[in-house]
Amino acid sequence: MSNHCLILNGNGRPLSYFPLSAVDWKTAVKLVFTRNVIVIKEYSDWVVRSPSITFKVPSIVMLRKYHKFSSKIKFSRSNVFLRDMYTCSYCTNVFEKKDLTIDHIIPKSKGGKTSWDNVTTSCKSCNISKADKILEKLPEATVPTFRDLLKGQEVSIKDKIIKDWEEYIVA
Ligand SMILES: [Zn+2]
Repeated sequence: MSNHCLILNGNGRPLSYFPLSAVDWKTAVKLVFTRNVIVIKEYSDWVVRSPSITFKVPSIVMLRKYHKFSSKIKFSRSNVFLRDMYTCSYCTNVFEKKDLTIDHIIPKSKGGKTSWDNVTTSCKSCNISKADKILEKLPEATVPTFRDLLKGQEVSIKDKIIKDWEEYIVA
């Protein structure tokens, strides 16, 4: 795993949820040295040494300043997968991101738009067999809420979340 340190915004919430703002230990140490962040928590059993100093690797840091971001949920492939919890709308199996595609419910060739209400998550083989048909029973597709995406995120990164982070990641 390469993400060792969670980065919090100046308000104590993750800097970004989707994807979760986390960096490797070297970047985390650099952020501490350049005084951009303050350390909230350190690994109790992980120390790095240079000839002159000994340094505990941080597991959570917080930006000294608050950065304002738009709270609007961006339409993107990754966010569509999160909304649909990495589940193919047609065969209802759960897949890894690399095995998923975006399917246009009303095909583009028939005037379907690329928007939250016309795209759904499909595995590669279902997408191929659906091709440019319009199915009788259309999958549900709506604009997700922040909470919807968070639920999807829990599924996708459950085993990558470090225990220390849990209380900071709840919505
Ligand atoms: Zn499928």
